[in-house]
Amino acid sequence: MLNKFSFCGLMEFKRKYYVGTRRGAYLQINNFMKFDIITIFPDILDSYINESILKRAQKSKKIKIQTHDIRKFSKNKHKTVDDTPYGGGPGMVLMVEPIYKCLKSIKKKRKSKIILLDPAGKQFNQKMAQRYANLDQLIFICGRYEGVDARVDKLINEKVSIGPYVLSGGELGAAVITEAVARLVPGVLGSAESLQYETFSGKKADVIEYPQYTRPENFKGQKVPKILLSGNHKEIEGWRKNN
Ligand code: SAM
Repeated sequence: MLNKFSFCGLMEFKRKYYVGTRRGAYLQINNFMKFDIITIFPDILDSYINESILKRAQKSKKIKIQTHDIRKFSKNKHKTVDDTPYGGGPGMVLMVEPIYKCLKSIKKKRKSKIILLDPAGKQFNQKMAQRYANLDQLIFICGRYEGVDARVDKLINEKVSIGPYVLSGGELGAAVITEAVARLVPGVLGSAESLQYETFSGKKADVIEYPQYTRPENFKGQKVPKILLSGNHKEIEGWRKNN
């Protein structure tokens, strides 16, 4: 069975490739994972993707996250990227052309996938995050208003939903998927061990991580289970498996 350590090790190996030089030496090239987010509101994402784990992961060049403003690809002077729906009906629809141009401007990596955020798409889960973490690049298209022109379907690989409810835009979905995938990229989390027992990460999708405690030992009468203070690693492991 491929455990989480070897899963990370294998991915780390896949993420590095070696280029021969004229003198017969090999240069190791780190192929960091790239996340491109196509949106009309890049500012919504800026603070989230530039804090905490995602910030550190970008600084250490494990991943790169880039937002792309669809309005830059509008052909009119007011930078409009939406219009009323053919056939009538409420609201506005994002136009296909600026999205097409924006997609064309993004440099594609070898193993790349284009995802349209869509409440009716395939519901995102940890297994999908693991599958995406094997890629070199994820490109997200964030809808807004009533959604996007249906002809965008020809430009994408998958439609993904982050849950059975309707949000006002795809930006939160893109952030959710980016973070869930980035955590699985080798080196992004401090310790690969953190991933080993994580909820939904076992062979069975319904595995839930054991309860965690930190100081104080006694909080208003609620005590930390004695076994966790025992120093007996075998027994602690057994307790964690059953809780
Ligand atoms: N009229 C659409 C419908 O009824 O399905 C809803 C459009 S929604 C207001 C605008 C955009 O938000 C969508 O195009 C999609 O990109 C994004 N969105 C909303 N809910 C989402 C969800 N649960 N998962 C992923 N994206 C979502």
